[in-house]
Amino acid sequence: MKRTWHAANWFFSINLFLLLAGSLHGISGLAKEDVTTAPIVVIDAGHTKSHPGALGAEGVYEVEYNDNLVAQLVKPLAEVGVKVILTKQPGEEISLERRAEIANIDRANLFLSIHHDSAQPVYLNQTTFNNLPAYKTKQPIAGFSIFISTKNPQFKKSEEFAELLGAELLKLGRKPTLHHAEKIAGENRLLLNPTLGIYQFDDLIVLKKTSVPAVLLEVGVIVDEADEKYVSDKDNQQHIVHAIVNAIQSFNRTE
Ligand SMILES: [Zn+2]
Repeated sequence: MKRTWHAANWFFSINLFLLLAGSLHGISGLAKEDVTTAPIVVIDAGHTKSHPGALGAEGVYEVEYNDNLVAQLVKPLAEVGVKVILTKQPGEEISLERRAEIANIDRANLFLSIHHDSAQPVYLNQTTFNNLPAYKTKQPIAGFSIFISTKNPQFKKSEEFAELLGAELLKLGRKPTLHHAEKIAGENRLLLNPTLGIYQFDDLIVLKKTSVPAVLLEVGVIVDEADEKYVSDKDNQQHIVHAIVNAIQSFNRTE
């Protein structure tokens, strides 16, 4: 009798242990799941030191503007619970294909490439700034542009983010450019949304080779004197960062 009681008690204890262990396992499993379901956003600073992009009105190459803004995006994005992955560090060389591959391998929720814009040579004067070669527009060409590709399998989601981003940039008082839609060599982009500055640019490698929603943002036109001043201003950079973070947060909520 006594022995039976012991056996039952032992049986009960083991069950209780398994139950507790099971629920503990469940809790740790849930916590793990929480971490892994944090939205992953791949941020890509356009260009490299050897392919530095456009040369701006103050003799500074585009890559420096891109690297600078991307560096400012990391902390505020992490603070709102986004897992941020950068395709490159300043000074690092990387191919366009590899940039897209990083987003695909990491199964990112979003790929955002940051650029600063130029204009076609017909609109530019070659000049100098502090004895550095520079380019300036002959007439004002200013504002932001957003590119998406119909060759990206997540085109609709890309467009959704592009719209959120365009709307946030408008709130800053920024205007979209329209010059990429001009019927001249090097442009001719289909302007999908003139209000939000969204263009279709199918063959941009970082957009068509990504299998996740992908958008390329031209923050401003660095060959335009006034726009270059705008994007170089520290406060404005903070406003742009804030606009991008807001758009990403809204996008993640729709996922
Ligand atoms: Zn660029």
